[in-house]
Amino acid sequence: MTGEMKAVRYYGIQDVRFETVKRPVPAPDEVLIRIAYAGICGSDLHIYNKGMFVETIPEVMGHEFVGQIQEAGAEVKDFQAGDLVAGNPMVTCGSCPGCRAGLPNTCGSLAFIGEVCQGCFAEYITMKEEKLIRLKPGADLKQAALTEPLAVALNICEMAELTPEDDLAIIGAGPIGLLTVLTAKTLYNVGSVTVLGRSGFRVKLAKRLGADCVLSAFEEDRQYTKMIEAAGKQETLQKAISHTAPGGSVYIVSIFKEQFPFDINAVVASQLRLIGCNAYEKRHLKRAAELLSDGRLDVSPLITDVVPLEACGQAFKALNEKEKTQAKILFKPDGDSV
Ligand SMILES: [Zn+2]
Ligand SMILES: [Zn+2]
Repeated sequence: MTGEMKAVRYYGIQDVRFETVKRPVPAPDEVLIRIAYAGICGSDLHIYNKGMFVETIPEVMGHEFVGQIQEAGAEVKDFQAGDLVAGNPMVTCGSCPGCRAGLPNTCGSLAFIGEVCQGCFAEYITMKEEKLIRLKPGADLKQAALTEPLAVALNICEMAELTPEDDLAIIGAGPIGLLTVLTAKTLYNVGSVTVLGRSGFRVKLAKRLGADCVLSAFEEDRQYTKMIEAAGKQETLQKAISHTAPGGSVYIVSIFKEQFPFDINAVVASQLRLIGCNAYEKRHLKRAAELLSDGRLDVSPLITDVVPLEACGQAFKALNEKEKTQAKILFKPDGDSV
């Protein structure tokens, strides 16, 4: 199958364009997927605003998607046309210490589709069989579109070894912070989850997803046993450190746009653990796909907008607003009933 397709390509800072490009052709070990939904991620905003990560320009953006296999290459064994799938968007080297240790998310040259090769803000994408995550027939594709960000939250909750006894605070009410609230409350029954956020709309969402307490500022002397930093700023990291109880743990899950100094002596004095969490492993993607296909986690409150690819300019602008009224925006490339 050859031809053209519609796509959203990145051209430079705050310059994304809806265009017609060549439809990719699957190699013998690849499938061609017709994209049903594709989500805009925080890292897409880093690309949009700062030009981070992206190596080729112009490039079709996007790494979060679900779709249906349209065509399978001759060497593809376990998948066939008609199967519903999500994809593992990580691009890894396969040979560095992280990759060799079986932790591809710590690959020294970790990148994602939509940054170093064609992404999923398009009608079609090709992908190797080994990267596919199977969805159950009849899965709710709109919810399953959050497989990838949910995998991030599952990795965070696993790293944090959450228990019902935890007094957990999450700084940041973006999609990752919000999915972590839902996972912590629904799958780990964490006793107390507090969310600190700037956007009134998003902290309300946090409450709806199960947060016990939502705040725009921490009370001065209040400290938590576990802290998740999902906002990615100097001031929020500093807050995370000063509001974690002695002996407690701070999980740093953001990609920071800048390097900066912070109070390392406070970490020493209170014997805090600072732990980084990056992306996920394939097993987290599989688990996320199962949880969403089974309807065990309801992420629908997070999906605030479903738009056609043509609306890429407005969608990125909306996510850049200071006072946000969106959480997850999904593209629906075939455009009908959006
Ligand atoms: Zn993502
Ligand atoms: Zn590697």
